[in-house]
Parts: sequence; C-alpha cells; structure tokens
Amino acid sequence: MPAKNDLQPLHEASVFGEGIAYFNEAAAKLDLDANMRRVLTHPSRQVIVSLPFQRDNGDFEVYTGYRVQYSTARGPAKGGVRYHPGVTLDEVTALAFWMTWKCAVVDLPFGGAKGGVTCDPTKLSIGEVERLTRRYAAEIIEIIGPDKDVPAPDVNTNSQTMGWIMDTVSMHLRNHTPGVVTGKPLCIGGSRGRVEATGRGVMITIEAALEKMGRTIKGSTIAIQGFGNVGSISAKLLHEQGAKVIAISDQFTGIHNKDGIDIPAAIEFVSNKKNKKRSLEGFTGGTPIGSNEVLELACDILVPAALENQITEENAKRIKAHLIAEGANGPTTAGANAMLAQGGVTIIPDILANAGGVTVSYFEWAQNRAGYYWREREVNERLRDVLRENFDEVWNTAASHKTTLRTAAYMVAIRRVAEAYEARGFYA
Ligand code: NAD
Repeated sequence: MPAKNDLQPLHEASVFGEGIAYFNEAAAKLDLDANMRRVLTHPSRQVIVSLPFQRDNGDFEVYTGYRVQYSTARGPAKGGVRYHPGVTLDEVTALAFWMTWKCAVVDLPFGGAKGGVTCDPTKLSIGEVERLTRRYAAEIIEIIGPDKDVPAPDVNTNSQTMGWIMDTVSMHLRNHTPGVVTGKPLCIGGSRGRVEATGRGVMITIEAALEKMGRTIKGSTIAIQGFGNVGSISAKLLHEQGAKVIAISDQFTGIHNKDGIDIPAAIEFVSNKKNKKRSLEGFTGGTPIGSNEVLELACDILVPAALENQITEENAKRIKAHLIAEGANGPTTAGANAMLAQGGVTIIPDILANAGGVTVSYFEWAQNRAGYYWREREVNERLRDVLRENFDEVWNTAASHKTTLRTAAYMVAIRRVAEAYEARGFYA
C-alpha cells in the first residue's frame, strides 16, 4: 500500500488540475490517508449526452451536454447547469469538484455536481433554448431527482430554465417533482430570498470576518467588481449596513466616487428596461473609470463578483484592500492567492463567501419536500445561522493550524466529506 500523502496532483494542465492543487494543500495539512485522497480526487460519475434539437428553420443540430456528479457521500449531488461555448468535460468536472467542498463547508446534506451544454445561447431563440433544455433534461433524467442530483441555474441559465427542466421531468414521470431542481420561479416552488441569497451571504461573511478583526461594516470603504446578481445585491446590502461603496464596475465600465456611490440609484439605472445591456455606462453618480481599475483602488474591502481569474500575479501587488470576499467562483489565481496571503491580506474564499446561494437552494429543496413554504424573514435568519456557524469553524481552523481561510475552508470541507465516506465504508 502506498505511504500516506504520497500522491501527486492528478490531471495537471487542466481546470480540474488547478482545483486539485488547493485540495492537496489542505489534504496534506489534514494528513489525509492516501486511499482517501485517491477516492476524493476522482469524480464519481461523468455523463456525456448528445442533444439533437430542431432550429426554428427546421434544421437539426446536435450539441453536447454533460452532467458530472463528483460526490454523493453526504447526500444527493447538487450543482448548477451552465450554457456556454467554452463548456468542456474538464471544466464541468472542476465545477462539480468545487460544489462538493462548497456544500460541505457550510454543512449541507448534499454532495457536489455540475452540468453544462456547449452552446452559445445568445445565438439561439427562446424556443430553441427551451427545446435544447428539455432534450438535455430528458437525456439525464435517470440520474437526476430530489434524492439523486438536484440541478440549479448557473451562467446563462435562470429560473425559467429550471421551470422547463422541472416540467420535463414531471411530465416524463407523470409526477409533480418540484424538488428535482432549485432556483425555480416562486409560483412553482421556488424559495423566497433565493435571488438575494448569494449577495446576502457575501455580506454576512464580510460582517463575520470584520467582527473577528475588531472592525465593522459601518464606515468601511468597499470596491466591487461585477454588478450583476452577486455584485449588485452585495453592494445593496453592504450599503444598507452603512458601508461606503466607493467603486462598482461591470464588463463595460467602472464608476468611482470617493464619497460613496448611491447604490439604490445605480441598481435602478441598470434595471431600467431601456438599458438593454444592464450596463453602468452613462450612470452619473461618480467618475467613469476602467472596468478593472476597481480592483486596485484604495479601499478596506474588495469584492470580486464577476468572473474567474481576475486577480492575478500581475495586479495582486497593486491591491490595497486588507480584506477580499470572493463573490465570484475562482476570481483569484493560485499565484495571486499566495502573494496576497504573504502580504497579509485576508481572503474569504469563494466556497464560503458565495455559499449563500446553495444554502438557500437547500432550503428550497427542503421546502419542496415538506410542501410547506417559509417566510422571507425565516429564510434570511436561517441563512445567517448556517453561514455564521460555519464561518467560525473555518476561522478557528485557520487560527489553530496557522493557515489561510482558504486552506482552512478546504480542510473543514474535506474532513466532513472524508468522515461521510468512512461512516458508509467503501463498497469496493
Ligand atoms: P451575472 O451575469 O448576473 O453578473 C456578472 C457581472 O459581471 C455583470 O455585471 C458583468 O457585466 C460583469 N462582468 C463580466 N466581465 C467583467 C469584467 N471583465 N470586469 C468587470 N465586470 C465584469 O452573474 P452573477 O450571477 O452575478 O455571477 C457572478 C459570479 O458569481 C460568477 O463567478 C458566478 O459563478 C458566481 N456565483 C454566482 C451565484 C449566484 O447565485 N448567482 C452563486 C455562487 C457564485
């Protein structure tokens, strides 16, 4: 039998391989057994499906879809579905891997999964997207379900997409099955508070970190990259708590105002029906700056809430914030992460900072199973409890092992998943 911790990173030179690097660092600190490492660094199941669907002009096209269930040790697999031209099996596997740790770090009774279809939905009509979605749902119907694997929205999919999947599965099974997906419209079993949940989680984890540092949100200066769901809701809630949001940005422009931006006005500006791109371009509540300049401004807290790989070894040295809360998935490269940690910057890692969304997805799934729906106040209170309790666990782990919050978050998550495998025993 190989000695403990003798395994090298698997799948190098891939997105999944990058993820494995963080895993290995935490696994080494946990002194995780080599057999357990081997199991935890392989996805349970990877499904590839061909999706023929009819274009509006009568032609047929065949796209490729994926569903990867990384782990089901702690419960049904859980994770979004992404529609994007760049979707590959490697990317979907990496995202399913991250979902496993995200669900575990906030102690949800779920494993991790992700799905995707390689397509450019901006080039499809709404009818074509619906036909493609229904065909995808039908092709993966045997492996999804409330007790098996529960999809949710991700990049370029939304509550409407989830409505179509729920309907397709319910029609095939001749059975009302709302718990097969989360992120549904409220009228068919969605949860109150789901739309705001990720931004609310960002705010709650920032508040928890500041408390540990003897600071408060009130009076802190904040810069936010990305002004979509996560960025704008984080901005709104932090502004409501008395923070001064001095910069916001989207893919088209940035806005800077050292006296604090009027966030409700900015949200109204991007939500105006005439603003088709939902862009901050033309917003007069500050000085226009470059999209990426927000990352480097003088401020207390930085919230990257746009895309992956935004904080790199190139710009990390110019970052002035002392606290970074990763609203986006994977916004910091591994090299930048090391530089920032060395410079004393505290990073609340993505798997913890943006776990509010999947936590309220769990609440949605629980409400669907009970057939009883909670008020928004209850959803928000329970979300706060879950995030605060698990934030403390991660914070204390970081302190006792003298490591970063990122490594500590992976340690907490890996320990929980490994415990579940041990309790079940290996069916080998
Ligand atoms: P979204 O599409 O609603 O918003 C994305 C925003 O980023 C837009 O304002 C867009 O203009 C902006 N953007 C894109 N490129 C940019 C650039 N180069 N510079 C500055 N801004 C840029 O997406 P979202 O749902 O807010 O997701 C944002 C991130 O958060 C993603 O990484 C996503 O995976 C992650 N996330 C989202 C949720 C959720 O519940 N929505 C949950 C967990 C993680």
